[in-house]
Amino acid sequence: LVSRENHVSRTVVSVAGVPIGGDGMTLIAGPCAVETPEQTLKAALMARSAGAALLRGGAYKPRTSPYAFQGLGEAGLRILADVRAETGLPIVTEVVDAADVELVASYADMLQVGTRNMQNFALLQAVGDAGRPVMLKRGMSSTIEEWLMAAEYIAQRGNLDIVLCERGIRTFEKATRNTLDISAVPVAQRLSHLPVIVDPSHSGGRRDLVLPLSRAAIAVGADGLIVDVHPHPETALCDGPQALVGEDLEELATLVRTLPNAL
Ligand code: PEP
Repeated sequence: LVSRENHVSRTVVSVAGVPIGGDGMTLIAGPCAVETPEQTLKAALMARSAGAALLRGGAYKPRTSPYAFQGLGEAGLRILADVRAETGLPIVTEVVDAADVELVASYADMLQVGTRNMQNFALLQAVGDAGRPVMLKRGMSSTIEEWLMAAEYIAQRGNLDIVLCERGIRTFEKATRNTLDISAVPVAQRLSHLPVIVDPSHSGGRRDLVLPLSRAAIAVGADGLIVDVHPHPETALCDGPQALVGEDLEELATLVRTLPNAL
């Protein structure tokens, strides 16, 4: 179902009217985690002025350590819905448990399945049934074939509104948190008709790498970028070192506006 065979044209996924795929480059931006109403609104306004068409923000955070901030849960979803009403930005947010899919889908415009859950088959089937577009991140230790098979689980439930997101894979290299597999973008685009976007924030885990990795993603023809922004990265409860703010965000905005046309 997700294979390029039998699909003459590439799929354009519409998220509350915002297209991902086709000719454009869609920017999704927002805080890694929803922390407070003020922080989320500020981050959303930053995202919107940088040209983002969709707001990202985690209310359920799949953290490596059980002692790390786990997200606000439904209270976070309510904050996202208020910020959507104020800014007009549709919401992309992660769901980590099949039991929460209905609740999260009642707030979200797009459901995100994170790297740690790429092969959580019950979750994939539940998001396939939820009637919302899905962003499927690549498992950090998954092959492209496994990633596409995970997408197939969603598609099998009748939902073809799937966006693939390359977010870096685990390699022997320790200088970056993950290694952005840039070749996965054209490879997945050749094997599948689904749009493929890149997360340069979770790939490198470092603010100084977000711009170079974004340039690379645009250059290989990614259909979009999903980027962390935060009004005060130094006090962020999650992944502050990779969040953009100030000049870096302005530079990203210029890049997304100009580079695709220059290629
Ligand atoms: C995220 O986007 O908030 C996230 C946790 O990403 P990943 O699943 O790629 O680590």
